[in-house]
Amino acid sequence: MEIAIIAHDGKKVDLVAFLLKNKAILQLEKINLIATGTTGGKAEDVGFKVRRMLSGPLGGDAQIAARVAEGKTQMVIFFKDPLSSHPHEADVNMLIRVCDVHNVPLATNEATAQLLIDAIAQQS
Ligand code: PGA
Repeated sequence: MEIAIIAHDGKKVDLVAFLLKNKAILQLEKINLIATGTTGGKAEDVGFKVRRMLSGPLGGDAQIAARVAEGKTQMVIFFKDPLSSHPHEADVNMLIRVCDVHNVPLATNEATAQLLIDAIAQQS
């Protein structure tokens, strides 16, 4: 199962804490993590194996959207920062739309992300 992780700058610290909290699940053999560039670097810094796409503002969200559309990514965890604006808002909205088109689970906040990870844990 491929899971994409993305965090806006204002949420990167929160995402790293979330990853560490859920390390046991996210490091299961059956889970492959992909990420936008900077987010992926932060995850690598704390020991996760991650396939890194371009940075979000340079097209990383669009790359992840393409993988969702192609059926390669089965879940997206996106810690969006609702309190700041982003130059790549169009790409972010496109990713959300593509997840909806393909009925791929998408968490845009930590509470929902935790529910998704708990669901994986129950299946393990
Ligand atoms: P980043 O991109 O991980 O490269 O910062 C995230 C985003 O803002 O979409």
